[in-house]
Amino acid sequence: MLNYKPEQILIDVEVENSLLAREICDRFSDVPQLILEQGDDHKKTLGLDPGRNPLTQGKKNLHLKYFQGHSFKSCPGFSEDLLCCNYFTLDLVENCPFECTYCILQAFLNKPMITVHANLEEILENLKNQISTRSRQLYRVGTGEHSDSLALDPYLRISPHLIRFFSNLPNAILELKTKSHHVDHLLDLPHGGKTVIAWSLNPETIIEQEEYKTARLDERLEAARKASDAGYKLGFHFDPMLHFPGWEKEYPRLVERLFDSVSPERIAWISMGTLRCLPMLKPIVEDRFPSSRVFLGELFQSDDGKLRYLKRIRQEMIRLMQQELQKHAPGVPNYICMDKPSVWRNSMPSQPEDSSDLEATLEFGFLQTEMERV
Ligand code: SF4
Repeated sequence: MLNYKPEQILIDVEVENSLLAREICDRFSDVPQLILEQGDDHKKTLGLDPGRNPLTQGKKNLHLKYFQGHSFKSCPGFSEDLLCCNYFTLDLVENCPFECTYCILQAFLNKPMITVHANLEEILENLKNQISTRSRQLYRVGTGEHSDSLALDPYLRISPHLIRFFSNLPNAILELKTKSHHVDHLLDLPHGGKTVIAWSLNPETIIEQEEYKTARLDERLEAARKASDAGYKLGFHFDPMLHFPGWEKEYPRLVERLFDSVSPERIAWISMGTLRCLPMLKPIVEDRFPSSRVFLGELFQSDDGKLRYLKRIRQEMIRLMQQELQKHAPGVPNYICMDKPSVWRNSMPSQPEDSSDLEATLEFGFLQTEMERV
């Protein structure tokens, strides 16, 4: 397990007595804790040493924050030009202890710390009020937008609160996306079949070379098997797929490894997506991870400003993966994340008409696995 212990904990005075803040502070009772009064500048308080790598160093500071913004919102990937799946995100943790070379957070999270939105009860109450106004809609909600959902969870224990909360919501499903193997603390929870635990997968060579500090492939698959045995539905995300010498053999082998470990009947959905990122990430990666091979592929700036592989390459990669998935698990819904309708047309057997159509397919897949479970 990733060994995490912050060097100091900063606590906004407004959340000093919140349940989550108290639980976290009790767990790290030997770590220096500092209450931030309203208006305190946390960056000055941290006194960062500019000579050290500020991103890596910052991950050792834990900030329990009173978050007043919108934690629950539509997936920021949504765009009229892309075929999206009407996903919602619930941001509770900002920043991540893992070090994936391609991680977009390096480019836009400029706060040198791991931040937890510690007014959890208030945030969940707002979410409940929001979704109750559209009781006929089924919301799929993920927490892995600004961090890995489970990387720190054995220490922060946020997910047990969420799993219990979602088990009582009639029209929402929680998805916890991770590259960790941290599921042991979740296995006995009363999840009510309303939580999907999902893994982002890549071939072992990519995990070793580009996904530092994450769980190895066999650890992720073993964790998935345990979660399945505990009655959780599973999700898998082949995302970001990287174009590297040997990819044509390694990705199909990865699909084989997946279905050697878990049964297709337990899988709610599988997504695929090739590497995409903002150009500003490139110099950061070159500086922080000089041996990374992520930017050695042929990447070009596309209409939305992001660097992507040529369309021909994206289609070739997705088509191959889709065929492999079809071979092993023909009944499991699979979809492409954040790409153009033309890529769907040229690499998938059928294309949803629009986002609502895609969403309905995923929800149908979820309900089917749920019915099989009962
Ligand atoms: S696990 Fe996700 S959030 Fe964490 S470093 Fe990797 S890409 Fe970034």
